[in-house]
Amino acid sequence: MLSSQRYDQIELHVDRLLRKYDLPIFPISVQNILHSMPNIELKFYHPLDSIHSAISDDGYTEWNGSTPTIYICYQENIKRVRFTIAHEIGHIKLQHHRNTEISMQEKEQEANYFASRLLVPVWAIHYLEVKSPEIISDVFCVSYQCAELRFRQYLKWTACGCPLNDIAKELSSTVWFAPERKFLFPVLSFIQQVPNISFV
Ligand SMILES: [Zn+2]
Repeated sequence: MLSSQRYDQIELHVDRLLRKYDLPIFPISVQNILHSMPNIELKFYHPLDSIHSAISDDGYTEWNGSTPTIYICYQENIKRVRFTIAHEIGHIKLQHHRNTEISMQEKEQEANYFASRLLVPVWAIHYLEVKSPEIISDVFCVSYQCAELRFRQYLKWTACGCPLNDIAKELSSTVWFAPERKFLFPVLSFIQQVPNISFV
């Protein structure tokens, strides 16, 4: 279990990244996020490629000096691919390759939290007035499991009075027009879009 202080630190990392990526439009494009980070390569491998699959069924990051390459197993389930890329971005941003103080299990927990927080910010659930895990899964293009978890975390967050750090306040104000209670960007349903690699 991560400490609440660590959750806050991870959220700051995510919000800084979202701010750099420019305007957060949903579903978040993990490809665009990657483009906002220097010197990272993204490569896909086939599930039957035994060299890569022996390391991971989903994906992993390899470091060459200070340059990371993310390897992702390409699969039909685009929601899973998106989450895995976001998870690997988490490992990189949180500098896990250098950290010997926390366990592998904690690193995995942190990268999972990073990914779910990046793809589904609580304030976006709030302003989009999303009312169920099913809709979260659709709008943010994440698995039902991730959507359900984020929905539970969202309910907890609202029970605490919806606290936001300064960057998240700034970000949410770029997409939400308070006087008219209106979201400023069209949010396409995942189902309306053609799921292809460019969408990742
Ligand atoms: Zn991992």
